[in-house]
Formats: sequence, C-alpha cells, structure tokens
Amino acid sequence: MIYSDSDLRSLQGIGEKKVLAFHKLGIDSVYDLLSYYPRRYEDRSLKKDIFSAEDGETVCIEATVAENAKLSRIRKGLDIVRFRAFDHTGIAEISYFNQSYLKNQFIKGETYIFYGKVTRRNNRISLTNPVFDRTDRIGEKTGRIIPVYRLAAGLTQKNISDSVKTALNLYLASVPEMLNPDILKRNELVHASFAYKNIHFPADQASLDLARRRLIFEELFLLSCALKSLRDNDKLSAGIVLDNERVGEFFQALPFTPTSAQFRAIEECIADLRSGRAMNRLLQGDVGSGKTLVAAALIYYVHCSGYSSALMAPTEVLAEQHFRNLSSLFSFSDLRIELLTGSTPAKERSRIRRELKNGEIDLLIGTHVLFSSDISYSNLALIITDEQHRFGVKQRSAFVRKASNPHVLVMSATPIPRSLALIIYGDLDVSVLDELPPGRQKIETYHVTEEYRARLLRFILKQTEEAHQVYVVCPKVEEDDTGELKSAKTYASELQKALPGLRIEYMHGRQSGKEKERIMHSFSAGETDVLVSTTVIEVGVDVPNASLMIIENAERFGLSQLHQLRGRVGRGAEKSYCILVSDHDTPDVKARLGILCNTGDGFRVAEEDLRLRGPGDFFGERQHGLPEMHIADLGADILILRKAHEEAIALLEKDPYLEKEENRVLKEQIGFLLRKNTMIN
Ligand code: ADP
Ligand code: MG
Repeated sequence: MIYSDSDLRSLQGIGEKKVLAFHKLGIDSVYDLLSYYPRRYEDRSLKKDIFSAEDGETVCIEATVAENAKLSRIRKGLDIVRFRAFDHTGIAEISYFNQSYLKNQFIKGETYIFYGKVTRRNNRISLTNPVFDRTDRIGEKTGRIIPVYRLAAGLTQKNISDSVKTALNLYLASVPEMLNPDILKRNELVHASFAYKNIHFPADQASLDLARRRLIFEELFLLSCALKSLRDNDKLSAGIVLDNERVGEFFQALPFTPTSAQFRAIEECIADLRSGRAMNRLLQGDVGSGKTLVAAALIYYVHCSGYSSALMAPTEVLAEQHFRNLSSLFSFSDLRIELLTGSTPAKERSRIRRELKNGEIDLLIGTHVLFSSDISYSNLALIITDEQHRFGVKQRSAFVRKASNPHVLVMSATPIPRSLALIIYGDLDVSVLDELPPGRQKIETYHVTEEYRARLLRFILKQTEEAHQVYVVCPKVEEDDTGELKSAKTYASELQKALPGLRIEYMHGRQSGKEKERIMHSFSAGETDVLVSTTVIEVGVDVPNASLMIIENAERFGLSQLHQLRGRVGRGAEKSYCILVSDHDTPDVKARLGILCNTGDGFRVAEEDLRLRGPGDFFGERQHGLPEMHIADLGADILILRKAHEEAIALLEKDPYLEKEENRVLKEQIGFLLRKNTMIN
C-alpha cells in the first residue's frame, strides 16, 4: 500500500466527524496528515533545579511532592489547589486555580515533572498552573519539544498530535524515500522517516533542524522537478541563426534615444539571436522602463533576417495598444503588422490565417488567440510575451510548440525576486532594464481616507482644468452586497453628478473588446477627462497626458499590483500623483500603503510584497500557478532552493521521464503534486 493514498479512517480514533474537521485543514489522507507540519513548537525540554530557576523563566522542574495538596476556596468561583514540592536544591510552591479535581492527583512522596513559568520572590519559588507529567510518563507533556498545530473547529492540539502519532506508528517504517542516496549524501540530508518523526516530535533542537532542512529541500526539489518536467525538454536546442547589420535603421527612425539599459538589453538579445542557440530570455523592467522598445528593435532585426515575429499580450486593450504603437514606430519601414484577438471578425481572422501561412505577415500582435490550434505560422522565429507572469507554465509550452525552436522573449513588469524567477522561469537568461527614460518624475503618492473626498474632487477638477487626465480604479464591476466597494459604473455616475462639466467614461472587463477599445481610444485621444475603470487598465496602457491616478479601496490590492496601476501615470513630463483611498487605516494597511508612498522602486515594492504576503499572493494564485508551500519559504530558503533546483535539473537530465526504478517514488509524488494543484491548467 502506498502510504500517501491511505485513508485517514485507517487511523484509530478518526471517525467521520474528525474526517470532516481534518478536511477543513486540507488533510484528506495519511500523507496529508504527516505533511501537516506544526506551525510552531514549544520547547519544554529545558530542565533546571529549583535553586537555579530564575524569575520569569519557563522551565521544567523535577520535584517530589512534599505534602498532601490543600484545596481552599478563596471566594465564590475561585478556588486553589496548593502544595509544596522539593528537589535536592530547594522547595517550590505549586498552585492550580479552579482545578479542584487535581487535589487528589498528586501523591505525597512521588516525583513529577512540572513545566511552567517560574516566579521568584525573596527566594521563594512558585509555579502557577504548570503542565505536569509523572516521572514514569515523562515525555508526554513535558521534557521535550512540543508541536503546536494550526487548528480547525472540532480538533484540539491533542487530537492532531495523537493522530500524527498513530500515523507515524503505523506507517513510519514504510515511508518511501523519494530522494536517492546520492542526493541525500551530497546535500547532507536525513532520511525521510527520521524527518517525518522529528518534524512532529523532535528529539531535540538539532534533530528538528535536520528534519526541517530535509523537508524544505524535499518540497522545493519536488516543485522544481514538477515545473521542469512540465517544460519542454528541448531547452538548449539549436535556434535559427539570425544575422544582419540593419538594426541601426530602426534606431535612426526613433523619435528619441534609447537608454543605455535598453541598448544593453537589445545587445544581449541580438547576441542570442546570432548564437545558433534558441533564445530563452526574461526581460525585466519596472513600469515605464521602455520594454516595448526593446521588443520592437528585435522584431525589426528578425524581419531584416527574413523571418516573422509574434507578440502576445494578456488583454485585448494591451494588444490593441501595442498594435497602434508599433504600427507608428514601424511606419518608416515595410514591416507588415496585423492584430488578432478574440474580437477579430471571423472573416478577417481567416484572411490573417491565410496570409500568415503564406508568410506575408511580419508581425502578428494579439492575445492568447495567437496560439490557438487553427493558427499556424510559416516562418516564425521570435515569440515575445508581454507581462508574462499572467500566463501559466502550460500555456507557455503550448506557444513554443507553434514553431520549431523559436526564440522566446518574456517581458515582465513585475520585478520578480531572483529566488522565484529561478523556479518559475527556470533556465531563462535575464536582462534587466534598471533605468527609466530621461525626464521621468517621481509619482507623488498619498494614502487618504473618506474624509478627503471633497478635496479629492477639487483635485480632480484642478488636474483636468490644466488639461490633464485622470484615472480612477475601483476593485469591482458591480456594487457588492455591503455597498462598501466602489463599482466603476456607479462611481462614474456619481462622479458625473459631482463634476458635471467633465467628460467621464467607465470601463470594465465585461464590456466587449470593441467597446473597451473605443473607450481607451477616446481616453488616449484626450476626448475623455476621467476614466473610471476596474483593473483592466492594470498593465501596460500608456497615456502620457494622464497625471492623476486614484485607487479606491486600495487595501484590496496587492502592493505590486498597486505599483503597476500607479505606473499608468507619470509617463509624460508632467508632475504626477497617485492617491490611494482607503478607510481601513489599521496599522497593517497603513504600513503596506506607506511602502508605496515612500518608494517608487518596483523591486523594493516587490520584495516587500513577497515578504508581507508570501509568494502565493505575490502574483495572485492564478497567475503563477505555484502550489502553496507547506514548509519552505521561497524568500528565506533561497540557498536550499538553489541546491534543490540544481539537483532537480541534474536528475531530469539523466532520467528525463523518470523511468528508472530508483525514481519511481519521486515520479509518483510529482504526479500527486500536479494533480493536487492548478499547475497543470
Ligand atoms: P513598459 O516597460 O512599462 O512597457 P513602455 O514600453 O510602454 O514601458 O514605455 C513607456 C513610455 O516610455 C512609452 O511612452 C515609450 O514611448 C517611452 N519611451 C521608451 N523608451 C524611451 C526612451 N529611451 N526615451 C524616451 N521615452 C521612451
Ligand atoms: Mg509594457
């Protein structure tokens, strides 16, 4: 029997009620239970003699009961059981409040271990309500490190630790080892059975540390293997050699000079395109750093070598914007661009399909439609995805299959801490745009509450009077039941009432692509003063004349997302502002929003975001598709992550499909992990 699939009901003491309670904690099998690691530990292992126990210290004292316990009633509802106990160094007074049943538990002349906080007054030692074990039962509640689990209704600490104990007794001998002996040895890791035993019931601190390290490694190793095996195996494959000297023509036609960071990134990419090896590169740059320009230079370079490119954006609005921008950027050349999205009419779609096949289109811009099964390319050499973190791993391998060994550039505005990039993007090379185009100013950012509503309206008016434009972002389309969240639609109409002279429009995800395009277009043409929107404008939209961004219910958004939203303004030379409206002025919200008010650096924001919310929320569960970590901390365990990742790569190189018998358990565990998580969607 594979222990991982064993039913919880196979454990004594677990009936239907408990099964339901465990389910609330995500525990459905014995494997889940054994991997339900304690949230923290209470160290009850420190033993002291009475003489040396210090005031305020929480320790174990081994002492013999000196007298029969006395029960006294202090007043109604308050009684006390009291007795003295001694060891060879002194006497301690032990008392229990409102536990009269203990009166006859302690037997004069017998020895117990008491664990509790020591009070020392004038050399009189006392312990109040200490936990205790009789000496013949040491190690139950005292004298060791005790696990503390996260609970759910219907379960106590004792329920969980008893169940874990039962599971360990039954299954520990048969816990399969997924790490092969070489990996264990090289990385100085303890065996699985030792780890499972000691993570729950550590023999001592050193054993706990060994267990933790092993299980963190295991978790990250498993994750790396899973992600790696989802990816194509032909990463280091040959790529089409693209070679020409014409990229200078592109620079000459530009209305401005690229920043040195842009030049550097373009050079790094072109070196890849020339190398004969398929490019696999991540281009990271804060909002507004000019990633599109890097993409455009490469598209031109590919075109001059006689091949075509595809550029995929996460939303139609963005795809359309890229289409407009690049069309004007390439107006100097004969490069032919088409746009393909979900709203492209069928007739046009079939024309584009035909022309693509014939190799008549040099650049196809669109949403994920670009990689639907009916679309095929004839001479595709470069695939660029914008704001890649929104695509799942699976999708990425789907579009890579559209061409034979295409060059791939992934652009991301969410600065991903290196530790995460390593596993999410695996073996991608990285170029960084660490410089903004000249003339950019810091976006003044403030956190305000409802009380500022009137001033906010005056500020909107002032900005629009100066011929600037304003974005308002609301978290939801419809008003929710509590009426607490601002909805784009209602908001727009209220704002219109308050400021009748302004041209106000609203936009949200449920409008048709055409409608959104019309609204966006009218905004970028300066025909709209205020655009009230949901986060559909989150990524990439570029209207340099917009100088004020107001974000309602700001506490609802992640820091990185707020930073992205804020990046919609400050794209021209005008002084720009971002106002975060949130009535939640709890210390937590204040601290979070304060980070944005104090820094404009996307990397710092991302790091804080990761620190505060963990990687799950960092990209939004859906977006990165990583499973929740049980024990590893992707921020803190970076060194182990690196080792685990290297081992995973090495192992899969030797045994790509995990067909060897020694990797059977690992293969099972990977399948198990993939089935359990959204990574395969
Ligand atoms: P992002 O990296 O956020 O995608 P974009 O590519 O949209 O940024 O560029 C932001 C704005 O900066 C655009 O209006 C673009 O035309 C402008 N821009 C890009 N590079 C430069 C440059 N070197 N000098 C001046 N403006 C630039
Ligand atoms: Mg962009």
